Amino acid sequence: MKAAVLHTAHSPLVIEEFNMPIIDADDLLIQVAACGMCHTDIKVQEGELPARLPAVLGHEVTGLVAGVGKSHVGFFKEGDRVTIGMRYRCGRCKHCISGHENRCQTPPPGKGFIRPDGTEANRWNLGGFTQYMSIPGYMVYKLPDGVDIQEASVVGCRVTTAYNAVKNGGKIAPGESALVIGCGGIGLNVIQFLRLFGAYPIIAADISQSKLDAAKKFGATHTIDASKEDTVEAAKELTKGGADKTFEAIGNPVTADQIVRATRAGGTATIVGALIGQQLLLKDAGFAFREVTITGVAARRTTDVIEVLDIVQQGRIDVSSLVTKRYAFEDINTAIDDVNQGNVLMGTVIWN
Ligand SMILES: [Zn+2]
Ligand SMILES: [Zn+2]
Repeated sequence: MKAAVLHTAHSPLVIEEFNMPIIDADDLLIQVAACGMCHTDIKVQEGELPARLPAVLGHEVTGLVAGVGKSHVGFFKEGDRVTIGMRYRCGRCKHCISGHENRCQTPPPGKGFIRPDGTEANRWNLGGFTQYMSIPGYMVYKLPDGVDIQEASVVGCRVTTAYNAVKNGGKIAPGESALVIGCGGIGLNVIQFLRLFGAYPIIAADISQSKLDAAKKFGATHTIDASKEDTVEAAKELTKGGADKTFEAIGNPVTADQIVRATRAGGTATIVGALIGQQLLLKDAGFAFREVTITGVAARRTTDVIEVLDIVQQGRIDVSSLVTKRYAFEDINTAIDDVNQGNVLMGTVIWN
């Protein structure tokens, strides 16, 4: 079976031959159907996020169950349509046992991929850019009937992370005003969940006109062209003093500072983008005197995945318009280029 390997930062992925993964009692064997190309994968490919190379990237996986470990017999069976919604967890720390596996600081590394000559490629996150993978069953969720297996790939990361940001980060209540900076894969989903949760106005800021157009389609009521306007001043004007809830959906220290300044007294600024290892310089410490809460989200909770899959099945958010391009496995490097250059809202790579 084949998997796509990153050998060194800034280089294209190389499709290589590997042995079929072996599953233990707690694992499932998944035949991958689709894997989203997320900006986080690209940050790894560009060396901005740490990874033990060579590694197989990819973390937005849907597929069919192709093998069931002993512990899961009776719940999963071969042929089940599934998505992988969670990351690895230790299962024993206070985060894991309180339902916040997403905060686990001691997760085990995933098993590597073994080549026929015995050498190994590591797994970064799920290691989803592969034809087959072994994965602990606790990370796997059955897809509800009627949910498209290719479209559902993006649910496992960008859609559910955005849900966590709106529900648990911003804790949006109907009638609250909101600002979202960054209208890529995460930002568009934050916007459509803000609409579902009843925020108004929903202000979207980006430097790309095509992304602002997409933001309107997904529920933004107002837009700010950040290439022409000062985002903080424009948002304050639209909300008469600052938005109740603000969201940073890029992973950039400059826009993270902007959401803090654009938040109304008593409001919450939620950083959704991964700013790991970067310095965040706040231009105005007055947020403390305004009692603004600065928070963030780490991926998603188990309950988020369960709830979002239901919401998708019920047709209450739009997932099909998010996936604007599909790539064959051999064209995986084209998918990286397209997502990197902002040519697609979301791309997903299709296997088999
Ligand atoms: Zn992702
Ligand atoms: Zn843990």
